[in-house]
Amino acid sequence: MPPFEFRTSEALVQHSPLEPLRGTKLLSWRQHLLNHGGNAADFDWLLDIIGGLSWSDLQYLRLFPERSVALKVSLEQLEDLWLRSLRTQEPLQYLARVCPWRDLTLSVAPGVLIPRQETELLVDLADSLSRHCAPKIWADLGSGSGCLAIALAHLWPSSRGFAVDVSPEALRQTASNLETSGVQDQLRLLEGSWWSPLEPWWGQLHLVVANPPYIPTDDWARLEPRVRNHEPPLALDGGPDGLRCLRTIIAGASMALAPGGQLLLEHHHDQSEAVQALLRNAGLEEVISHSDLEGTLRFASACRPVGNAHNGNSL
Ligand code: GLN
Repeated sequence: MPPFEFRTSEALVQHSPLEPLRGTKLLSWRQHLLNHGGNAADFDWLLDIIGGLSWSDLQYLRLFPERSVALKVSLEQLEDLWLRSLRTQEPLQYLARVCPWRDLTLSVAPGVLIPRQETELLVDLADSLSRHCAPKIWADLGSGSGCLAIALAHLWPSSRGFAVDVSPEALRQTASNLETSGVQDQLRLLEGSWWSPLEPWWGQLHLVVANPPYIPTDDWARLEPRVRNHEPPLALDGGPDGLRCLRTIIAGASMALAPGGQLLLEHHHDQSEAVQALLRNAGLEEVISHSDLEGTLRFASACRPVGNAHNGNSL
């Protein structure tokens, strides 16, 4: 008997069409591949997401290596993906074409930013900002894979949302993730830059979120090769000081938000003060910084004053 309870996945129940595999064999194969390089957390991600062997099942096999396991794909297939990722530095999410994010399983492909874990918190922040009243109309500027837009549509089933992106490739990815999301009727996709395609709804947007590109151009060379060489600069490069897109978004907020409407932004780890200043200078109120799970001030929110028609900022 196991010394404590594991949540066992299908892998241990042997539903796979593939031959069950001894734990001893799997563990020595895993160790052999890790000897080629890479890190164990990434390898175990692949084993879980593509192989169907959860982390807790893997721990179970460590304790009971005589048990057998049935993976969803062959060891050769996993091995090919792993060795290719070591060779080319392609992110595993692109190779696997999938990225789990919050409770969603999103498809991702080169050309679209891989949703980051820290961005998951934006959904909780949006939820708490709208605790007393779901926004009737909301938008996600720079939707990418569609992660935020789809999660927010789930959060506010009676609201109407817009996912905006300037990249047709990103919008195709949002659309493909939307197809299987169950929230297709709540979300409309708009192609264009930031506020522009939302012009017919300026003054009516109750909550707008954005995770725009914010990496300063000079930092580009220091990014990990798997980001620098494979993820789209359009989704990451925020110009000389990293604030170019944040400036544009903030400058348009007083006109495009509904009176009292909220803006919620993600920014770089060292941009909190600059973003707060931009929000205040744009005439927004209730400027608040929020921490990510590591305690870094990574998000900012503010709202358009209820009384102002608009304060002269232009888009
Ligand atoms: N957080 C991402 C990274 O550090 C950047 C995302 C963005 O620029 N919006 O790779």
